[in-house]
Order: sequence, then structure tokens, then C-alpha cells
Amino acid sequence: MFTTRKPDSVTDRASTTRVIYLGGLGRSGTTLLERLLGELPGVVALGEVVHLWERGVLAEELCGCGVPFPACAFWRQVGERAFGGWSRRLAERVLALRYRVDRTRRIARIAHPDLAEYARAYRLLYDATDAQVVIDSSKHASLACCLVTCGVDVRVVHVVRDPRAVAHSWDRTVARPEDGRPMTRWGPARTALHWTAQNAALELLARRGAWVTTVRYEDLLADPGPTLTALARELGLAAGPELPFVDGRTAWLGPSHTVSGNPMRFHVGRVELRRDDSWATGLGDGDRRVVNTLTWPLRVRYGYWGVAA
Ligand SMILES: [Zn+2]
Repeated sequence: MFTTRKPDSVTDRASTTRVIYLGGLGRSGTTLLERLLGELPGVVALGEVVHLWERGVLAEELCGCGVPFPACAFWRQVGERAFGGWSRRLAERVLALRYRVDRTRRIARIAHPDLAEYARAYRLLYDATDAQVVIDSSKHASLACCLVTCGVDVRVVHVVRDPRAVAHSWDRTVARPEDGRPMTRWGPARTALHWTAQNAALELLARRGAWVTTVRYEDLLADPGPTLTALARELGLAAGPELPFVDGRTAWLGPSHTVSGNPMRFHVGRVELRRDDSWATGLGDGDRRVVNTLTWPLRVRYGYWGVAA
């Protein structure tokens, strides 16, 4: 169903909170998977924490619970515990560190004098949630690499999705619920290059000794309950044989405090778990050929051969 590559040895860790880090290119289903895993007991979904500094602290965008970040009681408490409160100065400092150390091109040999300070901000934040396990769906392999290198207890779930479906999704116009502005759009060639780069970076992370479990979005949606149960067990999360919030192709989601992510982070209540195959008719032949070419051979490695995966 999925593969896991685990470190050869586990060193003593200073963190008390385990981090399930969802990696992959955007529009690959990480927000849905985060919301589902966040329904498990003892697990708290935080959203894309990499964007907290800019979108939450500085821009005061909405938390997943529907109120502006500064007004959310959950995040206010986390900020006070971790940093004595959120401040513009803190956010700008972390963003400056991010620009210096958190870069995809550094994954092959990550080392920088500011790396420890950058990772410490995340460690303090995770620990301040008071949760046993948090989910950070920041997606970028580079942040996961920074955290793993600095000894944060991270298990990466690498989510892959058919690049033709991802390219079709990035090519569509979607409004951001936060401010009504359109989400970033990429053409198929650009998406294909990012898909290859991000997935290759996550593959490299596994080879550098990180715990990486690879899951195909299509497998999750083909059989949601059993796939989620098996994944939860693989990650060491408590999950009985039946998940009370999943029934066949229907799931029920409670409120969450995801700080950033795609629009479904605001969804509360019933959700249908069906895969979106609109790319099969919506992505033109020329675009499909471009994506097929630019995503080989990783596309084949993940089993995306024909029209349907
Ligand atoms: Zn909130």
C-alpha cells in the first residue's frame, strides 16, 4: 500500500512533541490527509506552519477555525508558551532565517550557522501545542530537512499524486477563501518541473536517513478507511480497526486550527472522499505530452502509466 524508509538509528531527542510532516507538491491532497489524520486521538493538525509567520502573524489571515490568527485562542496560547507572545519582530526574524537556510537547493548538503536558530523556532512552537503528535503540512522537503538535521522528532509522509492531475489543478482558477484573491496558477510545464523537483527532494531526504513514508493520493481515495488505519499504525498513531470518522467514502471533520493550506482546511462536517479525475478530459493532448515528458522517470516509479492510475 505504501513504503516506509526508516533511519538506521534513533538518537536522543530534545523535543517532546512528535511531528508528522506532510511533504509533496501542492494540490497533491496533503490538506485532506492532514484533516483526516487530525481526527485521530492525540493528534493536532497545525496546517502549513511554514506560512504561519507571514500569513498568520504579519498578515493576520484566518485560522482554520474561522477567526483571524491573532484572535484564535489556540494560537494565542501557543505563541505565549513558545515565545512570550507573537510579534512582528519574531515573524520577520524567522522569515529572514528561512530565506537563508530553508532552500530546496541546500538539501543535498544542509549546513548553515543560522540553521539551529531556525529549527528551534519550530521546535518551540510544536512543543507549545501540548500535543503528543502534531501535523505540519508545510510540504517543502527543505523545511523537513532542516528539522530532521536539528534533531526534531519528525516522520515525513510523502504524498504523491498523478502529475497530470496536479498540473490540471494548478491550471485552474480558484479563489482564496482568506481574501477572495485567486490562488497562484502555474502552466502545465512549470507544474511538471516543480513536481519532479519536489518529489526528487523528498526522495533525497529518505536517502539522507529521514523517516519517510510514501503514500499515493489515489490509494488513499480508493480505500480511505483501511489506508488511513494502516498509515496511522505505520506512523505509530493510535487507531483502532475502525475509524469512527470514516464510513466508506464519507468522512466527518471537526473544526481545526490549521494556519494555512488549501480552501478545504475550513471545511467542517461531512466530506465525500472521491478522487478528481477531471484532468482525463480537461488536460489537452499537448499539455499531457509535456507533463508526461517532464515528470519521467519519477512518474513511472510511482506507478502513473496510462490514462488512469
Ligand atoms: Zn483557530
